[in-house]
Amino acid sequence: MQSKDLKFDEPMFESKAFQLTDEEEKICKKARELGSEKFAPRAYQYDDEAKFPTENYKDLHKEGFLGICIPKENGGLGASFRCYTLAAAEIGRYCGSTALTWNMHVCSTLWTGSLTDDLNMPNNIYQEHRKQRTIHYNRIINDGAIYSQPFSESGSAAAGTTPFSTIAEPVKNGWRINGKKIFASLAGHASYYGILCTEKLADKEPSQKNTLYLAIPANQEGVSVIGDWNPLGMRGTVSRTLIFKDVFVPNESALMPRGMYFEAARRWPHMFLTLSPTYVGLAQAALDFTVKYLRGELPGTPPIKRRMYPTKQITVAEMQIQLESLKALWFQSISEACVDPSPAQIKRAYATQFSVMEGAHKIAQLAIRTCGGQAMLKSLSLERILRDSRCGSLMLPWTAEICLDRLGKVSLYNPGETDQ
Ligand SMILES: Cc1cc2nc3c(=O)[nH]c(=O)nc-3n(C[C@H](O)[C@H](O)[C@H](O)COP(=O)(O)OP(=O)(O)OC[C@H]3O[C@@H](n4cnc5c(N)ncnc54)[C@H](O)[C@@H]3O)c2cc1C
Repeated sequence: MQSKDLKFDEPMFESKAFQLTDEEEKICKKARELGSEKFAPRAYQYDDEAKFPTENYKDLHKEGFLGICIPKENGGLGASFRCYTLAAAEIGRYCGSTALTWNMHVCSTLWTGSLTDDLNMPNNIYQEHRKQRTIHYNRIINDGAIYSQPFSESGSAAAGTTPFSTIAEPVKNGWRINGKKIFASLAGHASYYGILCTEKLADKEPSQKNTLYLAIPANQEGVSVIGDWNPLGMRGTVSRTLIFKDVFVPNESALMPRGMYFEAARRWPHMFLTLSPTYVGLAQAALDFTVKYLRGELPGTPPIKRRMYPTKQITVAEMQIQLESLKALWFQSISEACVDPSPAQIKRAYATQFSVMEGAHKIAQLAIRTCGGQAMLKSLSLERILRDSRCGSLMLPWTAEICLDRLGKVSLYNPGETDQ
């Protein structure tokens, strides 16, 4: 039974109604406590100065949350895909930039952990992978190492349609890397950059099948961070540009065995749904703010009630309806995420991503309209929530446009079908 704790916000997903496991309930409660006690008070400064949430990462490490998806046998919390995404939504409710960057870090462990376990590979390769991933997991658990996921390159590779232009050339005991990554969240703050790149193989054209997933130490010779970062929203992510010039990485930097990223992207497509929890949290935050504000209970604002106006009540009802449907669809998708999902499950995942990424911003817009002028002041969190929530639809590989494009096509055409 979930206990009611008046000090904190209500859970986004009640254990009883959503039939959460004890572990999910415990981890979500911890995320909510961390978010409301530590992350919410710091969020303004990170946003204002476009500064990385370093202090939050120290707290995440202290609570074991850097290892949330690292298997228990390796010293982590061993959270499942669903458990992690539920916790990430609770974090996103209090600081979007922390939740989004934490997602890049956690995915480095989730994808190399339980997701890879689901892919069939020869036993010797799997055993080698288990040995190898321990190196990365130990760095995280013991030293608080942070991993990022700079995949984007200003081309269609991050959308999943062409090979990455960043090249890994096999050399003695490892690879030599050359390339550039844009929008690299955690640039200058991660300990390792987990890049996707194409392995250069003699006499072979670059192919997506030869995608490698490698962890490059941030302080390795040839790695540089360039450009500034002064965007509309998600300012604390510090997503600057990374340059790799003749960077050597040893064999153990491989986060997945050869060919396995290509396999995972096709067989575990919900891996790309992991950007969505941050925005589910932001949608909830917009409603939380509105209710407190209209009741005259928002800390730091005068206790003026505005809830008696019918137009405000109707808007809150609209926000509640949009949020409930977004959360219900999202919960279904994170609950059914699995290897080799059915075509209907994949369609639902696209619909979920679109609904969350567009829906969070719509709810934030309604919040601004109904709370009124004073609520858009920068000193209050709603203004930041509005800007942060605009970013979700732009994130590859499942931007809002790509979701529409794919959902329309797979709904109207069977595999291989054309109009010729
Ligand atoms: C706050 C924030 C943090 C980010 N952090 C990271 C990160 O840590 N790692 C990372 O790898 N990336 C990150 N990104 C980058 C993100 O995924 C995009 O690569 C980036 O926003 C560049 O997008 P673009 O719109 O300029 O891309 P473009 O390539 O110019 O694409 C423009 C639009 O065209 C559409 N499009 C593109 N390719 C196709 C296609 N093949 N088929 C159909 N439509 C297509 C898409 O809708 C896309 O939005 C981040 C972005 C933001 C906003």
